[in-house]
Amino acid sequence: MYLSKTSYVRVWSCRKGAWITQNHPELVLQDENTLARFRTGNEVGDLARGLFGPFVNVTALKEDGSLDLPRMIENTREEMERGTSVICEASFSYEGLYCAVDLLRRNEDGWAIYEVKSSSDGLQDKYIADVSYQKYVLEHCGVNVTGVFLVCIDTSYVLGPEGLDLNGFFQINDLWEQASREQQNVPEILRTAEQVLASDQEPHMELAEGCKDCVYFQYCTRDLPSPNVFELYRLAMKKKLEYYQQGLVSFEELEKAGVIKNVVQKRQVDFALRERGTYADVNEIREFLSGLTYPLYFLDFETMQPAIPFCVGTHPFAQIPFQYSLHYIEHEGGELKHREFLAESGTDPRRAIAEALCRDIPANVCVTAFNKAFECTRLKELAATFPDLSEHLLAIEANIVDLLTPFQKGMYYNKEMGGSFSIKSVLPAICPGDPELDYRGLEGVHNGSEAMSVFPRIQSMPPEEQAKARENLLAYCRLDTLAMVKVWEALKKAVTI
Ligand code: SF4
Repeated sequence: MYLSKTSYVRVWSCRKGAWITQNHPELVLQDENTLARFRTGNEVGDLARGLFGPFVNVTALKEDGSLDLPRMIENTREEMERGTSVICEASFSYEGLYCAVDLLRRNEDGWAIYEVKSSSDGLQDKYIADVSYQKYVLEHCGVNVTGVFLVCIDTSYVLGPEGLDLNGFFQINDLWEQASREQQNVPEILRTAEQVLASDQEPHMELAEGCKDCVYFQYCTRDLPSPNVFELYRLAMKKKLEYYQQGLVSFEELEKAGVIKNVVQKRQVDFALRERGTYADVNEIREFLSGLTYPLYFLDFETMQPAIPFCVGTHPFAQIPFQYSLHYIEHEGGELKHREFLAESGTDPRRAIAEALCRDIPANVCVTAFNKAFECTRLKELAATFPDLSEHLLAIEANIVDLLTPFQKGMYYNKEMGGSFSIKSVLPAICPGDPELDYRGLEGVHNGSEAMSVFPRIQSMPPEEQAKARENLLAYCRLDTLAMVKVWEALKKAVTI
C-alpha cells in the first residue's frame, strides 16, 4: 500500500484526523459542499493543464475505474525519457511513498513541480507541506527538481469580453525556499505517519484553534457535556479554548465562574439551564416593527460562486445571483402574495434578475431580508453593472430592513435557537412541528450550498431532471421567504400578547 500526498498532508495537519479518516470512513463528510469543492478542484485542475502549452496526461485507470498507479508511474518514466515538456499527473513512488504531480515541467537543468490549488491563498502552510513531500519523493526517485511552484487563483482577475486569460486567472507562487526548508521535516512526519496509520489506538490531540474548521470537530468533542462552551453564540474560538483549558466547559461551569458578559450569550446559558419559555423585549420589538411599513416585501437571493468566472466583468468566486423569492403583503390584513425568479442555467443571469427585481419590487417600498448585508451587496453590484437600472436597484437596497436584528440584538430568544440565529435555526424554534415549514421535507435542495451547486448543473441534465431541479430550487427559496414571514408574524404576536 502506498502513502499518498493527501495522507501525508493529513498526518502533517493532525495525526488524529488522519487516523479517523482511515479508521472511521463513515465520518468522512460527503455533503454537497464537499462534492462541490471536488468538482471545482477538478475543473480548475483541468484548466491549469493548458497553462504551459501542449501537455501529456499520464492518468491510467484499471477496469474498476480506480487509478492504475504502476501504469501511471511507467507512463511518466516513458514521457520523461521521450522528452515531453509538460506531464500532467506525473507519478512517482519511493519506498511505499506515492505522489502524482499536477504539472511536471521540463526546464534547462531538470524538472519543476507545479501544484494546482483551486484557492486564492498560495501561502498556506499545508500547501508548503504538500509540495515539500512531492519534492522529497521525486528527489529520492532520482529526479533533478529545480523548481517548486504553487498555481492558485488570482481573485483580482476580472473576466474581459475577450474570454478567459489563463495567465491572468492563475497566479504562480515560487515556493522553492519554503519547500526546501520544510523538506527537513518530511522524514519525521513519515515516521509519525507509519506509527499512527498502523495503530488501532486513536491518537490523543488537544483541541486547538484549527479544530473549528475541521470536519471531525463533532466527533472530537463527542464526550463533552452538551451544551458546552463551543456552542456559545458568537465567541471567538481562541476565547472558547481559553475557557475550555480553564475547565469551564459546561454552561453550569461557565455561569458559576461568571465569565460570560455578553447579553445574548448570558441569555443562551440561562435559557439552556432553566425552563424559561420565550424571552421577548416588547418595547424594543415594537420599535423595530414600527420601522416596517406596508406594502411589505420579504426578499431572499440564491447565488452561485463560480471559481472560473463566466460573467464578463466578474472576479473568480464572485457571488452571482440567479434566483430570488419574494413574498409580499400590500396592506395591513392583506393577502400574502408571492413572486419568484429563476434564471436559465448556463446563461449570465444578472441582467434578467436585475430587470425582474425592478419589475417585482417598487422603488419606494419596505423590503426585509434576513441578514441584509448579503442582499444589499448583491443589489449594489447589480446596480454598478447596469447603470440604466441603478436608480431603482439602489432604492430597493436603501429600503431593506434586516429581520435578523431582533435576534442578533437579543430582543427575542428561546432555548431552541441554541447559539444560532440563522433562519434555519430560528424557524423551527418559533414554529415547532409544522411540516410545511420543515426544510428536511424539501426534495433535492435543502440549503444555499445545495442550491449553489444544483443550478449550474441544470444545463447538462436531461429535460425531465431539469424541470425537477428547477422545481426543487423554487420550493427551497420560497420556503426561505415564507420563513421570514413567519418570523415577522411571531414578532408581531410577541408584542400583542
Ligand atoms: S477536531 Fe481537531 S483534534 Fe479533532 S481531528 Fe480535527 S483537527 Fe484533529
